[in-house]
Amino acid sequence: MDVSLQVSLLGELNQADKAIWALEDEAAARPRELRAREEALQEKKRAREAAEAGHAARDRERRAREKELLEVEARARRAEENADRVTNQAQYDASQREVQALRERADALGEEALALIDEVDALARGVAEARAAEGAAAAERDDLARTAAARLAAIDGELSGRRSERDRVAGEMDPAVLARYRRAVASPGARGGVTVCRDGVCQTCRRQVPPQILNEAEAFRALHACPSCGRLILNVLRPEAAGSPESA
Ligand SMILES: [Zn+2]
Repeated sequence: MDVSLQVSLLGELNQADKAIWALEDEAAARPRELRAREEALQEKKRAREAAEAGHAARDRERRAREKELLEVEARARRAEENADRVTNQAQYDASQREVQALRERADALGEEALALIDEVDALARGVAEARAAEGAAAAERDDLARTAAARLAAIDGELSGRRSERDRVAGEMDPAVLARYRRAVASPGARGGVTVCRDGVCQTCRRQVPPQILNEAEAFRALHACPSCGRLILNVLRPEAAGSPESA
């Protein structure tokens, strides 16, 4: 077996796989993003409905207060007219007290109605803001849905290209090497399948790799895996190869 060729093909295969995994992850993330955006929109919708309900309730209260004010004012006018028809001082005093009480009640109702008008105005501004926020959230959701659909279609195209590239490389590989790579990819914690060693250390799991393994891998005498993480060793970099002057 030409180990050097197999390692080179393994590198190509892994590049194609990494591109495929990234595309698959991206495709899987799109529905989650859309759901998050949809939930944000529903939250704005609930806030808008609550704002509208609060505004409507206060506005009903304002109308009731204004109606009561008109009734009290009408009663006060009738009481004043009746005052002309009294026949003695006691009736006159009683009539004056009634008029006075009704006027005071009307003043209080007038003030309450004015305060409610201010409150209803403020609530109406809140409703307008809540509607604008809901509209913005809906536009964001629609935008994302459109771009997500376009991106998913592009991902599909890229994926089929990458997959046929991967299949082509896999077809050129030694089946035993391919099987070892597939096992490394499938083993827990070894996703990626391959690694590079630098200065005797696996660059993925950061553990020391025995010198004999490094020597054989470097000379392409055998295809080795990192004993700690199980990833196949694609490349062995020495301090000299790293171009570090002080260690040369
Ligand atoms: Zn390792």
